[in-house]
Amino acid sequence: MLSLQGIAVSPGVAIGEAFVVDHEGFRIPRRFVSQDAVEYETRRLQRALDAAAAEIEENRKRIDQQLGTQYGAIFSAHLRMLQDPQLVEKLRSLVRQQCYSPEYAVSTTLREYAQAFEQLPGHVLSERAHDIYDIERRILRQLLGRRREELTHLHAPVVVLAHDLTPGETAQLDPDHTLAFVTEVGGVGGHTAILAKAKEIPAVVGTGRFLDQVAGGDIVIVDGDHGQVVIDPDPETLARYERERKQHQDLFQQFEQLREFPAETADGVRVELAANIEFPQEVRAARRRAANGIGLYRTEFLYLAAEQEPTEEDHYRAYAEVVQAMDGLPVVIRTLDLGADKLGLAPGENEEETNPFLGLRSIRLSLKHVDSFRVQLRAVLRASALGPVQVMFPMIATLGELRRAKMVLADAMEDLDEQGRNYDRQIAVGMMVEVPSSAILIERFLQEVDFVSIGTNDLAQYTLAVDRANREVAELYQATDPAVLAMIDRVVRAADAAGKPVSVCGQMSSEPGEALLLLGLGVRKLSMPPVAIPEIKAVTRRVRVEDCRKLAERALQMDTAREVNALLHEALRRTIPDLFSHDSES
Ligand code: PEP
Ligand code: MG
Repeated sequence: MLSLQGIAVSPGVAIGEAFVVDHEGFRIPRRFVSQDAVEYETRRLQRALDAAAAEIEENRKRIDQQLGTQYGAIFSAHLRMLQDPQLVEKLRSLVRQQCYSPEYAVSTTLREYAQAFEQLPGHVLSERAHDIYDIERRILRQLLGRRREELTHLHAPVVVLAHDLTPGETAQLDPDHTLAFVTEVGGVGGHTAILAKAKEIPAVVGTGRFLDQVAGGDIVIVDGDHGQVVIDPDPETLARYERERKQHQDLFQQFEQLREFPAETADGVRVELAANIEFPQEVRAARRRAANGIGLYRTEFLYLAAEQEPTEEDHYRAYAEVVQAMDGLPVVIRTLDLGADKLGLAPGENEEETNPFLGLRSIRLSLKHVDSFRVQLRAVLRASALGPVQVMFPMIATLGELRRAKMVLADAMEDLDEQGRNYDRQIAVGMMVEVPSSAILIERFLQEVDFVSIGTNDLAQYTLAVDRANREVAELYQATDPAVLAMIDRVVRAADAAGKPVSVCGQMSSEPGEALLLLGLGVRKLSMPPVAIPEIKAVTRRVRVEDCRKLAERALQMDTAREVNALLHEALRRTIPDLFSHDSES
């Protein structure tokens, strides 16, 4: 049994068989072959070993020539390991006697060898483990071909285990067949995490390295509430998590029963709970949870899932579907927020920018490609003829950007006027407040927009200079840091004074304790993944605004996020003790 602690990014407990997608995307299934296929499989194994050996030999020759024989010797050592008679015999006998598939035999055996090296004291010897993984990959490449295992074509429910999943890959995961996923890297605010919640797939990220210790088919428990992952659990642990899963389900069913009730605090203050969506299909989940509207439609996912640049019709069809399904409830469509981690590229493919989160992303990208921006804005405007649509610009850092974006919107209106198309001329125009510069000058921004929405994911990232998707600095990534709270406080007060609506659409809205804090800071509209709505409604209905206000006042006076988190934890334990049954048990 192997226990891991990662970062909980999407709630729920799942138990199922592992589907391993390693660094190169190989899936290594625990597969057995039938007795009459053993001869064939043994030959396939031998062919793969020979081909891998030939490849290593070729590399050795090339490196000998290019760099000298002392470098080529590395490959000679690999060749000796690969051709070690004991290893070859072990692999053959696993296939012949245990009926292992060659892939499974190679993967389990070489990982076992590598782990033995890793446990040796001293850097030099433990580094040899890398060589063994390298050999493993070479053989697997021969056995499986280079094809990346298609996550989109899962046929049975599995727990996906990967080094990393790009937002594009996560977008393609099929929730019917993905019980949960776990990644070695990643942080709480990354878009992979956001998509997991959107798809209602329990997920844990940033566990650190573990893939070399699992094989496909191993039983895995993923606790998306507490960030725990257990591989190959003992019967006792398995039973405990089965209970936990049941409790979680019961509690959420209880929350769901509040569907018909308004989101109103115990002292009668109405709160709007809207949904964040990434795909038009998610409106169904939003309606099911009785969302009061769509508070954030992240349109960039139209790009991540597409092969080609979407046309105006592609945009329009997606927006129309959402607006019509929401049936008169407001829909805030955010213009493209591409760039940084939302590129849909494999890790390492966007290397030209050394600092992508500070680079050409979001509104900057739209303002650089004005023609595409105008196409998107025409589609948003056309959708506004079908229902109450509001348009929102992401990552506005300067007034100049806001003004330029509004000019492109005016151009798009002119285009539609020329075409004689219908749209809402009075469409509300808003901006995200997610860069400190806009929070600092919020009063001036408020004079030029109809509403603002605070993006706490990026606001925390940019205020604290912490990459939201990086597990190495995940400890520092805290939206509850008093500096971030002071920014939120400032923006909410300014919006109230200006009489302009303000909402929060970052992940904070969906964290029960943080939601209490936001209510205390005066926020009356929270937008979150649909799955979070029932829980946040349940919490809202149990608190009094006055108590939340006192909580916020205390939090604002605190020095560290740790103190604020402890305060919120305590407040929540008092308000909604049913959420904490697990804590007392473990
Ligand atoms: C945010 O930054 O808080 C936000 C809601 O936008 P995104 O997560 O899409 O960057
Ligand atoms: Mg953002």
